[in-house]
Amino acid sequence: MYKLIGVSIMLSLFFIISQTVGSEANRNRDQIESKYKWNLEDLYKTNDIWRSEKGKMEKSLDKFKKFQGTLNKSADELYDCLSLLMDKDKELSRLYSYASMLSDQNTKESIPLGMKQEMDQLATKFSSATSFIDPEILTITKIQMKEFYKAKPELKIFTQFLDDIQRRREHTLDPVGEKIIANAGIMAGSPDDIYSIFSNADLPYPTLKLSDGKDAYLDAAGYSLNRASSIRDDRRKVFETFFGTLKKFERTFGTQLYAQVKKDMFYKNVRKYSSCLGRALDANNIPISVYTTLIDNAHKNLPTLYRYLKLRKRMLGLDELHYYDMYPSLVKKVNMDYNVKAAEDVIKKALSVLGDDYVQTLNIAFDNRWIDMYPTPGKRSGAYSNGSAYDIHPYILMNFNGKYDDVSTLAHELGHTMHSFYSNKNQPYVNADYPIFLAEVASITNEILLADYVLDHIKNQDKKLSLLGSQLESYRTTLFRQTMFAEFELKMHEIAENGKSLTGDALTKLYLGLLKTYYGADEGITKIEDLYGIEWAYIPHFYYNFYVFQYATSYCASSAVAEKILQDKGMKNKFIKKFLSAGNSNYAIPILKGVGVDMTTSEPFDLAIKKMNIIMDKMEIILDNK
Ligand SMILES: [Zn+2]
Repeated sequence: MYKLIGVSIMLSLFFIISQTVGSEANRNRDQIESKYKWNLEDLYKTNDIWRSEKGKMEKSLDKFKKFQGTLNKSADELYDCLSLLMDKDKELSRLYSYASMLSDQNTKESIPLGMKQEMDQLATKFSSATSFIDPEILTITKIQMKEFYKAKPELKIFTQFLDDIQRRREHTLDPVGEKIIANAGIMAGSPDDIYSIFSNADLPYPTLKLSDGKDAYLDAAGYSLNRASSIRDDRRKVFETFFGTLKKFERTFGTQLYAQVKKDMFYKNVRKYSSCLGRALDANNIPISVYTTLIDNAHKNLPTLYRYLKLRKRMLGLDELHYYDMYPSLVKKVNMDYNVKAAEDVIKKALSVLGDDYVQTLNIAFDNRWIDMYPTPGKRSGAYSNGSAYDIHPYILMNFNGKYDDVSTLAHELGHTMHSFYSNKNQPYVNADYPIFLAEVASITNEILLADYVLDHIKNQDKKLSLLGSQLESYRTTLFRQTMFAEFELKMHEIAENGKSLTGDALTKLYLGLLKTYYGADEGITKIEDLYGIEWAYIPHFYYNFYVFQYATSYCASSAVAEKILQDKGMKNKFIKKFLSAGNSNYAIPILKGVGVDMTTSEPFDLAIKKMNIIMDKMEIILDNK
């Protein structure tokens, strides 16, 4: 199944910013005007129709049987089988979308939940009915494939799909080898499972008495809440207490993370890759240079991060900046309220730089019930866009509460929706679902364009400062902090690849060194206490196999796209035709290159840094005039 993963892990990690609490829902679903509720009847008129379509789909899975063992025999068989695969995948996605969105409307209702569970079972059946396809495609030789294309030109519609499977050939073993690798899979999740049980359930987290006499329980969530305290002594103690506890288990945490690295070494070796990084990036065909360029760029631009850290010190009124001073917000949060109409209005105005066609499509989305806007009792929290009903239209789930962050989230989700809309419209189903590496580009671009527009149109200096401050904080946490994580991940793998072992102590030394470099300890910018070198033990992302760097690259690419849209008249058409409409008709890096954003060079990072400096210029002017 290719499409159902559409609402992906990456999106869900970005969701965190837009979490809303169900309790803020003060109206029932039937009290909300229908134009603010999505219309699932566009998918199926009734649950009965859904059920009968599902039954037909289930029966039709038998049709795959006759193709088994034939795919390397003739172009016709291959073409017919892939056409069937795409048809059925498309139906499955539509069935799944209906059940899951119906259930998200009210997660407490049991009928939709049951429908969703039925879909999970059907999806498993589908996977097992089609599991012979990839391995059989791998047995088709290059020469044979050329002949197939000649014999059956219609097969060319599957070129990208077939190439993406075939390029894995040199990393695929004979059937016996593959069976051993598949069997080893049972052990692969253990390091992460052990880390997550240990850190979520068993670790004895401390309780700290805060200056107001209240007790703060410092597990991961309590730590991240209390580290932002505006009372300095509290946040210092929060750091000391939380990291002091982790430090006591340094050996255990180290053994867990080393087990993860050893697992990656196993796959690198048996799959014949020259590095763990190479293996991880090959899954999405991303060149290693994209990763190393990112790290080089972060180092080259540390002076800009230092400028930010000095500004932070000034705004918090401190003599000396410590690592525990990173989280309190720079400016008091200023309330910026919007109703839905005002949100719709400001989003359309901000995104009008993308041209009439884009705005027309936004109108269709708002006027034709693609969006489920308000929180209601039992509704799933957060926000997402679901573009997997290929023949229909994308949908958006929102929990709009009238704050600027909600407007920004709506602009973000509309970015996903427009990406899906244009790709679905312009690509055959097989190429419609955009690559994961590109998943957050259209959405973050919209967030940036919205913030720029709002900044240009508000007069109130406190609001301006608050908005600029939160923009700036995004640049620090994505461009620099995530890249520092990416560098740590790379270095710990390199240590193991060079035949050395990793202990908790060694990991702490490695992490502390990076922390001191990124935060300018030797330059006297930030004081970093040695204890904070244990921070690595708190980051679950090190178990995600070289995933975090994509937060930084997405942000750079989006920043570059937004900048180019504002500067270059030709960019908006290019962006719609060559990016939003491209789906996965090519790999991620060439698609971005097609709109002038080359992730193997430093240009995108440089543009993001330029923007970061402009934000700081603006903030300093406001502060100087206060
Ligand atoms: Zn997103």
